[in-house]
Amino acid sequence: MDLYEYQAKELFAAHGVPVLPGDVADTADAARAIAEEIGQTVVIKAQVKTGGRGKAGGVKLADNPDDAKTKAEAILGLAIKGHITRKVLVTLASDIAEEYYFSFLLDRTNRTFLAMASAEGGMEIEQLAVDRPDALAKVPVDPIAGVDKAKALEILKQGNFPDAIIEDAADVVVKLWETFVSEDATLVEVNPLVRDPQDKVVALDGKVTLDENADFRQPEHAKLVDKAAEDPLEAAAKEKDLNYVKLDGQVGIIGNGAGLVMSTLDVVAYAGEKHSGVKPANFLDIGGGASAEVMANGLHIILGDPDVKSVFVNVFGGITACDEVANGIVGALGKLGDEATKPLVVRLDGNNVEEGRRILAEANHPLVTVVDTMDNAADKAAELAAAGA
Ligand code: GDP
Ligand code: MN
Repeated sequence: MDLYEYQAKELFAAHGVPVLPGDVADTADAARAIAEEIGQTVVIKAQVKTGGRGKAGGVKLADNPDDAKTKAEAILGLAIKGHITRKVLVTLASDIAEEYYFSFLLDRTNRTFLAMASAEGGMEIEQLAVDRPDALAKVPVDPIAGVDKAKALEILKQGNFPDAIIEDAADVVVKLWETFVSEDATLVEVNPLVRDPQDKVVALDGKVTLDENADFRQPEHAKLVDKAAEDPLEAAAKEKDLNYVKLDGQVGIIGNGAGLVMSTLDVVAYAGEKHSGVKPANFLDIGGGASAEVMANGLHIILGDPDVKSVFVNVFGGITACDEVANGIVGALGKLGDEATKPLVVRLDGNNVEEGRRILAEANHPLVTVVDTMDNAADKAAELAAAGA
């Protein structure tokens, strides 16, 4: 889960990383009130989960409360790379002597953690990484050894941080590492980390990605979920422990097991080429069990997506045998009643397949077409989606 800047800075503050005081507002009047409370020049910053806000006009200085209100009005509602700004952070402005870059991240390719540091931070870090990769230090971090002050200094020296502030910056880096580890983050990035005219080192921006696999031991993280910005179908799926991902095509896909569902996406995309280019509309993995209830939950979510024109149910019977799955589908359609309006193509294989197909044949539901092979079923689902689109 990606956090907003204001949430990242709240975590930073909790772990002793220096940040400037501020608060978040969703109206221009509330932004004005925060600026009044701060009583000095403030920065108004769009809270969107994407970078490049500065360049898109989403970061503005305001000298007084009325100015803060005007700037907040301009930023609220602003679309930045397709993200609509619903909140702004109003925070004390800093004078900046220098801007640096620092991050910790999970380096999946090299199966380790990585620190990245550069004395040339600010808005152009991606460009710097391309043009002058030597200016951006990349230092592997052993997860057991972690980052103490000596390691922090080693990283910052490689990033060419100036001597005058390297000790203070190293203290900040140790606290960023504590944040990274104790919050189970996969990314902690500060760009810019600044040196102010008094040589204080402060995190002016913050980007944090939390590892959702660690949610079980991070009960506090549930509060960081932005319910309003969540896709309602994805939220409903999460509530039912189903893995659902929205895509932009027309064929709804339900399967059991991530591997099967992913290969189903491929065969549907391929079959769709012959049927006006229809594509998968979503990805729903009902997991190992496929009881009537789980199937009804899955179908309810898939059919709730107005883009779906047909549904492909692709199940391989294993521990949950095909007859149970077939009963699940029949039961789900019974439970859904009039809510089920889109054609369903069902392909069953595996344990007890004959009995499963017999149950579906006997139910003879008008919306259900049973097809024996995955390729033919994908073709049928694509054909029905094209006809319904
Ligand atoms: P991003 O563009 O989305 O990464 O947003 P940032 O928070 O990094 O802000 C972009 C730029 O705005 C920074 O690199 C700074 O140059 C400038 N900026 C942000 N906060 C302040 C501030 O408090 N004072 C000043 N003078 N500039 C700021
Ligand atoms: Mn930034």
